[in-house]
Amino acid sequence: LQGLMMNTPLRIAGLLEHAEKWHADTEIVSRLPEGGLHRTTYAGLGRRSRQLANALRRLDIRSGDRVGTLAWNTHRHLELYYAVSGSGAVCHTSNPRLFPEQLVYIINHAEDRLLFFDLTFLPLVEKLAPSCPTVEAWVLMTDRAHMPETTTLPDLRCYEDLLAAESDEFEWPVFDENTASSLCYTSGTTDQPKGVLYSHRSTLLHSYAAALPDCFNCSARDVILPVVPMFHVNAWGIPYLAPMVGCKLVLPGPGLDAASLYELFETEGVTFTAGVPTIWFGLLTFMREKELRFSSLRQMIVGGASCPPALLRAFDEELGVTIRHAWGMTETSPLGTVCTLKPQQLSLSPDEQFAIQTKQGRVIFGVDMKIVDGESRELPHDGVAFGDLLVRGPFIVADYFGTAPGHLTPDGWFRTGDVATIDPSGFMQITDRSKDVIKSGGEWISSIELENLAIGHPSVAEAAVIGVPHPKWSERPLLLVVRKPDHDLSKEDILAYYDGKVARWWVPEAVEFVEQLPHTATGKLLKTQLRKDFDGYQW
Ligand code: ADP
Repeated sequence: LQGLMMNTPLRIAGLLEHAEKWHADTEIVSRLPEGGLHRTTYAGLGRRSRQLANALRRLDIRSGDRVGTLAWNTHRHLELYYAVSGSGAVCHTSNPRLFPEQLVYIINHAEDRLLFFDLTFLPLVEKLAPSCPTVEAWVLMTDRAHMPETTTLPDLRCYEDLLAAESDEFEWPVFDENTASSLCYTSGTTDQPKGVLYSHRSTLLHSYAAALPDCFNCSARDVILPVVPMFHVNAWGIPYLAPMVGCKLVLPGPGLDAASLYELFETEGVTFTAGVPTIWFGLLTFMREKELRFSSLRQMIVGGASCPPALLRAFDEELGVTIRHAWGMTETSPLGTVCTLKPQQLSLSPDEQFAIQTKQGRVIFGVDMKIVDGESRELPHDGVAFGDLLVRGPFIVADYFGTAPGHLTPDGWFRTGDVATIDPSGFMQITDRSKDVIKSGGEWISSIELENLAIGHPSVAEAAVIGVPHPKWSERPLLLVVRKPDHDLSKEDILAYYDGKVARWWVPEAVEFVEQLPHTATGKLLKTQLRKDFDGYQW
């Protein structure tokens, strides 16, 4: 027996239609790469997205074609999200921080037909263009006044001219909700980048899940500023979530330094933000130096890398902002787990609560997870057993774009490549990426836990722990530390700091002080590089 409800396909254009009709006056504020702030509304977003959709038709973009972007978080990038996906094509966002060779690989692999980019990236795009034969036209996301006088790009168009030539009437097509909507490549920390091809259905289901109270908990009364870039897993879904709930959106453009962010938080009344830990350490230092406070910010999502307890505590106790620690990956759209307390945990002491909040948290509806051992046997949820983390659900990748199928386990789970524990209350904690795991004397040591502890020392600016071969224990942890400027810190000081906090045999006996640590394009520690740099470490 079939249900008798309307079979309305879930489409990204539906989010825009909703916001335009019911939240027409709600603002979208952007800091532009050309300088200055730009203000529009959901009504404006709807109008201009339809003009852009007409321009895409004129450029012969058809259903399923890939349209690339290299752009900051701005209203123009948002227009591309809606015009490209809404008209049935695929919005392929690339990360401009990748090495040029990786970008060339990604653009060619995706076979982008058009590439839209911000003024900031003109020199980069001029360098890439000769190696990107599938791109038929390059569109600079600016107005006539900011177009360069000369360029090596063969067919350079001006975004605002494209829009100005078009009518704002466009009927968003209705199609199967499983149609591809957007494409993101993994950052390729370990191998070649792989393309994750989202659908309208997966994106909409992910947006509903993201809005839930124990996830982002956003409503029409919020003002959201995504620091996480729109070129990094669709800014964790915020560009879709905001029109769904009808809240004001503040887009920081290229202004990701602490001073620019703080200014926008305050002038625009931001209540909610999201980004990777590195950004928040920068903001914290800035606010401490200037003795600043937030007047509207209440909550932030920290994810993409482990959130050190020191950061959680500082934002909560000094700045009155609750951090929600979240875990996910490009392959999971990206939200997998978010850490919020259960009712029985509310009576615990603040220290016990902080300890729980350091974990990556509980699954949101739409994601199922388990941990397994080397023989694929499921491990208990006792908070102690470590195992490979597997996930499944309607917004988890099934196969990679343009590669042979067969990435799931025989029973349909996706291997995340992370190693984790799950406690009896269902809280998951990542201990390592599987390739970063340190195995000493046959036992696992969590590099993330050692890093999180080191970063809590007042003289440590950043820390990394890698496994290096050891004659007796097969592998031992090596701690790499960047000291804060003008701080003295000896090997003995930092090792003493571990006393009583972890098992004795976890404490690394090797410590090296370094000027800086290498990072990936998304700001994570580049451990492959560190392992190369410290290959053949002398004990
Ligand atoms: P890549 O896998 O190429 O680095 P992603 O940006 O998709 O690209 O990163 C996903 C990975 O980032 C996860 O598999 C996990 O290892 C790490 N990660 C994400 N969030 C967290 C977190 N809160 N704590 C620890 N690690 C995290």
